[in-house]
Amino acid sequence: MKSAIIRQISPSIQKWFLRELNVKPDDPTLSQKGNVLGELLCKYGKTLVDDSSRARRQLQNLSPGMMSLLGDLPEPKDYVHEEKKLEAGSEDYCFLRNLFLSSLKSHRREYGSDEMCATALIDVVDILTVPFPEEQLKQYRTTCERISKHELSEVPMPMDTALRAATSASTDVNEYFLFHGCPWGAVDSIVKTGFHWKHSGKNTGCMYGQGCYFSPVTSKCDQYSEVDEHGHKVMFLARVALGNSLPRWKRCTDVTTLGEKYHSICAMTRESEGSVDHPEAVIFQRTQALPCFKFIYKHKASCNCFVCTKSGP
Ligand SMILES: [Zn+2]
Repeated sequence: MKSAIIRQISPSIQKWFLRELNVKPDDPTLSQKGNVLGELLCKYGKTLVDDSSRARRQLQNLSPGMMSLLGDLPEPKDYVHEEKKLEAGSEDYCFLRNLFLSSLKSHRREYGSDEMCATALIDVVDILTVPFPEEQLKQYRTTCERISKHELSEVPMPMDTALRAATSASTDVNEYFLFHGCPWGAVDSIVKTGFHWKHSGKNTGCMYGQGCYFSPVTSKCDQYSEVDEHGHKVMFLARVALGNSLPRWKRCTDVTTLGEKYHSICAMTRESEGSVDHPEAVIFQRTQALPCFKFIYKHKASCNCFVCTKSGP
């Protein structure tokens, strides 16, 4: 017999909690573990609140302009729609550079291989604010309002290492700052009209459907970015409203939309018995993400990461 609390949550989330508790769905002791589930729900709820206040503290030294991008979004009329190169060495620049570099991870040399590569050695060349159009900002805000009307009935899947939006709004639409690598040819279109799955470039698989992929792990997104004639690559840091995120343990390539109840797919990592090494999230509506910063970077000549060894010297 399942406890009341477990009946209120979807089968996918149930599976996740059952694994946390290390019990089978038909375990007769499950009903007695109902309060443990309750505690788990509280624990993750509390983590979200803690994360948000930690993010706010981190942001104290940043400029008001930066704060408005990482915290409560400005009104469309107040947003400065100009590309601005952040001054190297400034608090804003160092904060974002650190976020980028600290999100580089080790990866498998090849798909299916057990050999993990060295963490990439990267030089950040420039960080710029993205001059997205007023219309994009309006659409993003409208989308967040729409999502906030749906009660986020389930515990949002944690994106452990990602920066959460430090909003003061009482409604939480599960907003994260996530990276997105793309070919140079897609940059203008992303800035003007937002992210679209067709921009993702030839290297992109569609493991979790025909959506737009984001990750807190820069080295994961790096695979989808291409070098220009200077060896420079480009990556966006976007504000993404994940809303009710549907966890997926296995590939589901045919998904094109999620309907009303869910707003994103969250790929579970191998650590959680999923299929990927590092977390990623997929959205299917372009208005759920706002490109906020553009990183120009390059791999150092001495880099021995899986991307460099694959593409050769
Ligand atoms: Zn490399």
